[in-house]
Amino acid sequence: MKVKQNLRVRIDADSMERINHWTDIAAGEWSCLGSVSDEILVGDVRLMDQVCSAASTELSQEALATFLVTHPQPELVRAWIHSHGRLGVFWSQQDEACIEGLANDTYLVSIVVNKKREWKARIDVWQPFRLTFDDLPLEIRLPDQNLRGECERLFNAHVVEMAPVLMPDWRGGKQLPQQQGQPYRGGWPDFDDDLADWR
Ligand SMILES: [Zn+2]
Repeated sequence: MKVKQNLRVRIDADSMERINHWTDIAAGEWSCLGSVSDEILVGDVRLMDQVCSAASTELSQEALATFLVTHPQPELVRAWIHSHGRLGVFWSQQDEACIEGLANDTYLVSIVVNKKREWKARIDVWQPFRLTFDDLPLEIRLPDQNLRGECERLFNAHVVEMAPVLMPDWRGGKQLPQQQGQPYRGGWPDFDDDLADWR
C-alpha cells in the first residue's frame, strides 16, 4: 500500500537508551510500554511488573491494568516494546496474541529488539479496518538542546564567509554585491547550479 511508504516510527533517544540498557541487563526477554504522540514518536517507556524467561515475556492483564491506572496519561500508552534477548527479531505467535490483547481504537506501535541491537517495528490498526504495517523504519530522535541561538552567536563570532572570486564579466557581467575578497554577510547570491562549485 502507498500509505506505508511514508509511515515510520520514531523514538526519542532517552527511551532508546533505556531499552538498550534493559536489553543488556536482562538475561532473556523483557517488555515495556511506551507513550506515542500523534507524530508517532515513542517516548516515556516504562517497565511494568512482569515474569520473564529466556524465551518469553508475559504481559499479565493484572499488571497491565495496574500500569494504566497509575499512568499519568494512559490514553497515550500505545507502544509495546519487548526484547528477544539473544534470539533474532521476529513476531512470534505469542507476540501476535499480545498485540491483539493490546488492541485499541487508534493504533499500536510494536517494537522488538535483541542484544545485537537489531530491531523490528510495526503499527497495527483495528479501526475502521484491521491493518498491520510491518518492517517500518525506526528513527531515533535526538533531543533538541535549543542551541540554535548559541550556535548562531558563535558562528558569527568566529566565521567569516568570503564570497567566491569571480571574473567581472563572468556569466554576462553578473556582479557580486561587494568588493572581491571582502567579508560578505548578506547571504550568497543566487548563482546558477554550474557556479555552485565555486563556493
Ligand atoms: Zn517476541
